[in-house]
Amino acid sequence: MAKGRPVFNEDRCKGCQLCTTVCPVDIVHMSERINSRGYYTAEVTDPDKCITCMKCARICPDVVIEILREATKEEK
Ligand code: SF4
Ligand code: SF4
Repeated sequence: MAKGRPVFNEDRCKGCQLCTTVCPVDIVHMSERINSRGYYTAEVTDPDKCITCMKCARICPDVVIEILREATKEEK
């Protein structure tokens, strides 16, 4: 599986916590930051552990999470 890095567009987050329930390596948690809409936002606490399963991005109803693909060694 290609390696990737989750990126959160925090201002779109509504703090519903759905994404925190699906990560198989338990790295998606709620932060203590409040966004411009007044919601606590979700974050990835240890992006290096991400296995790029896309579950967090798929479950988010507000399309907050994007998985940026990282180039493999062969592509560099
Ligand atoms: S892509 Fe998968 S492993 Fe990575 S943060 Fe999201 S749910 Fe967790
Ligand atoms: S599922 Fe989306 S809107 Fe809900 S807390 Fe996670 S990032 Fe925010």
